[in-house]
Amino acid sequence: CRLETSPALLLAENETAEIAMLQVARPGDEVLRYPCSAALLAARVQRLSNDAAASRSPDHDVLTGLLSRRGMEPQARQWLNCQTPDDACALVLIDLDHFKRLNDEHGHAAGDDVLRGVAASLQRGLSPDDIVARWGGEEFVALMSRYDAATLVKDAEKLLSPIATPVQSSTAGELVVTGSAGLVLLHPGSRTAWQGALHQADQALYEAKSRGRNQLVHFELVHEGRPGDAEAELQRFSEVTRMFSDRLNRMVGHMGRRLVEGARRQALIDALTGAHNRGYFNERLPREL
Ligand code: GH3
Ligand code: MG
Ligand code: MG
Repeated sequence: CRLETSPALLLAENETAEIAMLQVARPGDEVLRYPCSAALLAARVQRLSNDAAASRSPDHDVLTGLLSRRGMEPQARQWLNCQTPDDACALVLIDLDHFKRLNDEHGHAAGDDVLRGVAASLQRGLSPDDIVARWGGEEFVALMSRYDAATLVKDAEKLLSPIATPVQSSTAGELVVTGSAGLVLLHPGSRTAWQGALHQADQALYEAKSRGRNQLVHFELVHEGRPGDAEAELQRFSEVTRMFSDRLNRMVGHMGRRLVEGARRQALIDALTGAHNRGYFNERLPREL
């Protein structure tokens, strides 16, 4: 029994069944030998639901099924128009911490599993009237509305702890990631200034990263001074410096590798003809032999 528009996962218990199923399967369906591991079955089901989400609308992100940035923009404007001046509304920008490191250590597929897990936990943590989208890469954006600002902020803060609960990856076992967030309250007068709000949330997010990550910072509090607290200022300065130096290191490392590879290629090519040179020949010949 199947919906006309949904792809199907066909489970074959032996080769004869598999052949029969391949004959009736439609484009987009998947045939899988069963029994198989729960992890494989889960991965196939996930793939099918991603395909279904993608074919439903290009406004959805294929990996997580959430709204994409493109899908979010018009919905956000509509959502903002629907809020009354009495509602407390906020835009929350969430960025996963050290996600590149997680990818490097455990592989891209594991990173994808974490992104799906985070998307699911955000959906669970929000109320049905809120909107959440995958803003790009490992960044998510949510629009939340509550009766009062205190509840709003509390609920936004509560989004971060489920992110940090372990995600079961099919390739790398249990993985834990944290997230940093920037929150900006959307006041009735500024509700049309969507771009401005995004920019402010981004500043707050940056502040959350520089304060040591795994926390939510309100844009309204970013510029609040902490007079007299020289040690905290120093601590913050060293966090910001560390973050810059982290990023710079990664950038320089990447550029350096590309330059070295480029120079190596150049050294083995004759500039006039573009053919390989004698040096290449001398290096290659013994290997070929
Ligand atoms: P920070 O705590 O400062 O945010 O550090 P970060 O490593 O999270 O930030 P950075 O922007 O350097 O790295 C983001 C990484 O996210 C790099 C990229 O490989 C990864 N990423 C982006 N999109 C995807 C995706 O669709 N799948 C996977 N697995 N990784 C992705
Ligand atoms: Mg990012
Ligand atoms: Mg990040």
